[in-house]
Amino acid sequence: MIDFRSDTVTLPTPAMLAFMQEAPIGDDVFGEDPSINALEAKTAALFGMEAGLFCPSGTMTNQLAIKTHTQAGDEVICEELSHIYQYEGGGIASNSGCSVKLLQGNRGRITAGQVLAAINPEDVHKPISKLVSLENTCNRGGGACYNFSEIEAIQKVAKSNGLGLHLDGARIFNAIVHKKEDPQQYGKVFDSISICLSKGLGAPVGSVLIGAAPFIKKARRWRKVFGGGMRQAGSLAAAGIYALDHHLERLQEDHTKALILKDALIKKDFVQAVFEVETNIVIAHIEGKFNAPELVKALKEKNILAIAMAPALIRFVLHLDITDDMLANTIATIDKL
Ligand SMILES: *Cc1c(COP(=O)(O)O)cnc(C)c1O
Repeated sequence: MIDFRSDTVTLPTPAMLAFMQEAPIGDDVFGEDPSINALEAKTAALFGMEAGLFCPSGTMTNQLAIKTHTQAGDEVICEELSHIYQYEGGGIASNSGCSVKLLQGNRGRITAGQVLAAINPEDVHKPISKLVSLENTCNRGGGACYNFSEIEAIQKVAKSNGLGLHLDGARIFNAIVHKKEDPQQYGKVFDSISICLSKGLGAPVGSVLIGAAPFIKKARRWRKVFGGGMRQAGSLAAAGIYALDHHLERLQEDHTKALILKDALIKKDFVQAVFEVETNIVIAHIEGKFNAPELVKALKEKNILAIAMAPALIRFVLHLDITDDMLANTIATIDKL
């Protein structure tokens, strides 16, 4: 099977597995796992932030951030396609008791002007606007990246109105590699950042939440409450350390492959359009001979897996385990459809 369903499907490489096996481990609830401590410190330092918190999933790092930034009754401002709203099981309401103000953006991206207009006035009728959450790259937006100047403008609006600023950076390294940015830029403007190791970086499990030391201390308490206090999980953290050391630069290869796949798709008459490809996600609008679920089925018969995100939208995600041969094979198959 050639699996384009998500960049979460990667398997650890033999070198990653060997590194995991050699990792020193201990009880992390006691703060005694050297590999987890090293991963947390390494990730925080990479972004110029003070502290990190290793968690089993990006859902947990996002939800812990929201819980730590807010109190029940507050409001979170985010784009309507955001993972925190669409794909985290209603956690903003059930974990934090917060309401959400949804903004309609451009492929998942919002502007400083929209954020300013969404902040509630001081009025007993209104929930207190407490947190702005951005996503970069935007998953439902087809891997779209923010321009950093817009993020800076949003940060100014958030700060001057007393709101926190969180980044769902599940694929932040795809944006950083594509835009040739420095992770330190992000550490300067966000109050918290959630980073997935299990997406394009190729680790089997894990996300890290980074922020100021007092913020992470509070989040660590909530992680225990959420049931995310793991014990000898250092081998998993070691996979993350290995991924940060070896799998960052190569993300550009996934982006290049995504562009090649886009070119193959756009030639077909059942492909009406392909979203602009910036990173490792290709979303195509399907209409005519196939709809998206029918195209997924036709591809599956040829051992190629993709996802229908909507009746007319198909998504392909490039990652570490898609080789040049697999891509060539996929393009040959698409050519014949
Ligand atoms: C995958 C993803 C997450 C976290 O997902 P988990 O499966 O819980 O690790 C968060 N945000 C975005 C944008 C994602 O794509």
